[in-house]
Amino acid sequence: MSICQNPFPVGPAVRHQTRLVNVAWGSTVVPIGSSAPIVVQSMTNTDTADHIATAIQVKELALAGSEMVRITVNTPEAAQAVPAIREQLDKMGVLVPLVGDFHYNGHKLLTQYPECAQALSKYRINPGNMGGGKKRDDNFAQMIEVACKYEKPVRIGVNWGSLDHELMARMMDENNAKPEPWDAQSLMREALVVSAISNAQRAEQLGMPGDAIILSCKVSHVQDLISVYRNLAGRCNYPLHLGLTEAGMGSKGIVASTAALAVLMQEGIGDTIRISLTPEPGGDRCKEVVVAQEILQSLGLRAFTPMVVACPGCGRTSSTVFQELADSIQSYLRDQMPVWKTRYPGVENMNVAVMGCVVNGPGESRHADIGISLPGTGEVPSAPVFIDGERTVTLKGDNIAAEFHEIVRNYVERRYGVRS
Ligand code: SF4
Repeated sequence: MSICQNPFPVGPAVRHQTRLVNVAWGSTVVPIGSSAPIVVQSMTNTDTADHIATAIQVKELALAGSEMVRITVNTPEAAQAVPAIREQLDKMGVLVPLVGDFHYNGHKLLTQYPECAQALSKYRINPGNMGGGKKRDDNFAQMIEVACKYEKPVRIGVNWGSLDHELMARMMDENNAKPEPWDAQSLMREALVVSAISNAQRAEQLGMPGDAIILSCKVSHVQDLISVYRNLAGRCNYPLHLGLTEAGMGSKGIVASTAALAVLMQEGIGDTIRISLTPEPGGDRCKEVVVAQEILQSLGLRAFTPMVVACPGCGRTSSTVFQELADSIQSYLRDQMPVWKTRYPGVENMNVAVMGCVVNGPGESRHADIGISLPGTGEVPSAPVFIDGERTVTLKGDNIAAEFHEIVRNYVERRYGVRS
């Protein structure tokens, strides 16, 4: 390495160059690909035929930060409900684009329910479950024809759980005839990539513009996903939708999704992400949006909400005061964001430190935009507050949390408020 080179380069690799696809509803246009910010999307788990429940959940996901929301369209009742969901959302001023998730009967539903086809902003097509032989080709062509007619982009979404059987069988035969056949895992990965690209090419031959196609190849294991997407990115320039399918519940789903997506996005691969978390019983569906945003923000790729740096606590902190403060300030910041993001441009880049004692507290707090260092066991019961690296007030007593919230609010107003 040359002595002039910075030995600590920071940041992701140059983004893999993809085409730009616009997904739109009304005045809302979500660009995907090229140099557009990596888009966060999510999916509802309501019965789509229940248009009220689905519209409410779409609104919740959109308010949490989902820039597109996918809904299942699996039955005539669901297809009939789609225009009503769209209308309900429009009335509420929620202009988030809706994506229709189709399997098996998408060709029928999109042709029999034109208002559904029109109300959706993008169609997800799974080429692995559209029948076989000529029937499959006809069904695929029918869906592409509708997409062209209504000028809607599509995602050709291949999934290893529903891989095209005929393609796989043909590739296995060819593989077996090789002098050195590939192992089954490598063959499966190749079949996913071939299925995605060949179907995209066929869609273009059928008249679909190349800048209206997004690809995904979803698998449920981290190393498979990384391997497949590296390969896919090297072989095409369609925008790529990243996500681990069936990621799982709780920390397992979050960790597996983060591990896979972080590696790929650090390599400049990926244009839109969805985190497929299984919600806990009664859990909040919006968690998948929060996790997607936190992955992007932790990698420094996008900013959504001020970041709270909090120490883990240790034997030097006998009380839960600092844990409660860290939790309350994080919730407070997230709750304010729907209003703050328009009123205080740039506030999403703010860093807040909440530290448990004097060891790292003052140092970490000084590095943050605003920080508080709480007293550890045996320390003087006071909490110095640091603003822009300078020690300012010292909080004492039972009202530290509320007073700190107020200090943060004033700081945000002063620093990010738009002056007329
Ligand atoms: S800052 Fe203090 S309380 Fe927090 S982990 Fe470090 S030593 Fe423990």
